[in-house]
Amino acid sequence: MAERDELYAINLGRVDFTPGDFDKFVYQHGAKALWERSMLCSCISESSGQPDFTCPNCDGKGFSYDEGKVIKALINNADGKKDSVPVGLLDVGTTLATISSEFRVGFRDRLLFPDMRTVYSQVLTYKGNPAGERLKYYCAEMQQVRVLDTKIPEDKYEVNGSRIIFKEDAGIQVGERFSVLMYTIPSYIVIDIPHELRGTFVKMGRVTDTWEELPKQYMIKREDLLPATRGGNLLETD
Ligand SMILES: [Zn+2]
Repeated sequence: MAERDELYAINLGRVDFTPGDFDKFVYQHGAKALWERSMLCSCISESSGQPDFTCPNCDGKGFSYDEGKVIKALINNADGKKDSVPVGLLDVGTTLATISSEFRVGFRDRLLFPDMRTVYSQVLTYKGNPAGERLKYYCAEMQQVRVLDTKIPEDKYEVNGSRIIFKEDAGIQVGERFSVLMYTIPSYIVIDIPHELRGTFVKMGRVTDTWEELPKQYMIKREDLLPATRGGNLLETD
């Protein structure tokens, strides 16, 4: 008891961060995220240091993603309310995510938000593939398919994961270009870890100060807005 009183006296007036509470806050208020870790691909040549552009694993990117783990990520508004990031300082499609330090999220890792939807539009060439034409991203809901200004009726095609399969009477010719407007799952890539070494000494109620890591903040950017990203294998279903 005497020791406790002494500690109480030492700690009086001291405001410690409580890492457990931060983690709890992120867990309770964060969005569900599928965290895929990026890893260099073994196709990278020892002599040139370049990836194999025909590599089936990484698609020539030089790195691939693991199967992913479901975590919670607190997305901070880029309007400056939460983290005083001045408006206009951030690039389009860039935001901050706060994640428990329990998860060692790395540079280039991918975060997918399965409960959210984002709009995506793409132009493709109809190749007449019986398995369907491959969309760049997983299609959660197709909105419109058009050839120039002609809308292809909804009952003239089917969407399966990231493939669109046209019916024979869809009125589209092999070699013809078509555009799609769809909802997909937002996919973000970690582009910076501004506070990698974020932590605090915790003294309250303990004999010695203990270093505790705080949840980390990550700068993330929409994958489709990143330059030189292929990303074609996102949530492929086949
Ligand atoms: Zn590879």
